[in-house]
Amino acid sequence: AKDEGGGTHCEYEPSLHSVAEERRVLEIALRSALERNEFELHYQPVVDANTEEVVSFEALIRWNSAEHGFVSPAKFIPLAEDTRLIVPIGTWVMQEACREAARHWPDHVKVNINVSPEQLIEPDFAGTVVRALSHSGLDPKRLEIEVTESIFMRDADIARKALEQCMALGCSVALDDFGTGYSSLGYLRKLKFTTIKVDRLFVQGAAQSSPESLAIIRAVVAMADSLGMTTTAEGVENEDEADLIRRLGCNKIQGYHFGRPMPVDDVRKIFSRGGRR
Ligand code: C2E
Ligand code: CA
Ligand code: CA
Ligand code: CA
Repeated sequence: AKDEGGGTHCEYEPSLHSVAEERRVLEIALRSALERNEFELHYQPVVDANTEEVVSFEALIRWNSAEHGFVSPAKFIPLAEDTRLIVPIGTWVMQEACREAARHWPDHVKVNINVSPEQLIEPDFAGTVVRALSHSGLDPKRLEIEVTESIFMRDADIARKALEQCMALGCSVALDDFGTGYSSLGYLRKLKFTTIKVDRLFVQGAAQSSPESLAIIRAVVAMADSLGMTTTAEGVENEDEADLIRRLGCNKIQGYHFGRPMPVDDVRKIFSRGGRR
């Protein structure tokens, strides 16, 4: 995985086991994690690049396993995808994030939810979204679904139709980890994403004055502008990176510099301080 998500969770160490054995053991625990209530969502602020006001929170799943302690999503999400456990887990994320957003933060602040390809190609994905919205009372305009380029690798038409159904409801769609996958740019003609998220890889590169990274961010910003999409820079860790990203014209910024993923109680505290970080 590209971004490891900081030092808040300790990884399950394979030491004496083979990789296959480790996966098997982890899968057993993952199968009962939902019913045992071992998941929790943390939320990371996304800020307007110019005003630095919080415009959304991205929901990021956390797993505190009875047997394995904190397991990084970079480790268990791929396993959940391979075993299709991501479908019920993803439904839980959708319901929980919509409910918490509707309940704990103001109407002008959105929630971003990560959706895996395996969820998107389920026959009733849009139905899952409709139910999460109606149960929570969340305005569809406040929900942004994040997908990666990998949705276009197979079942592209099914994935596109599912996202179009969500957009018809009023939701927006972000293309996550942009530039790190293997897809062609052709899919940008086929689906009108709301937002392109520029991966931390390029942010880091640009900060180290890599001419390639700078050129890529400039090109992505220009392309997004002319396609009527906005850009969010991911993984901004300090003031220098924030300044650079702002000068490059990204619309929104996310990263440790503006806030780490936090429990919902901490989100509530932000708004009791008046909406800024
Ligand atoms: P992602 O969607 O690209 O999420 C951003 C990741 O970067 C998060 O890692 C976040 O904690 C981390 N990050 C944010 N700002 C910074 C920064 O300034 N520096 C660095 N080094 N990292 C930063 P996390 O929470 O470990 O999640 C990893 C990945 O797991 C996510 O990457 C996403 O692909 C997946 N994931 C997380 N929650 C869910 C979920 O509910 N559903 C699905 N399908 N995938 C999820
Ligand atoms: Ca990522
Ligand atoms: Ca994401
Ligand atoms: Ca990302």
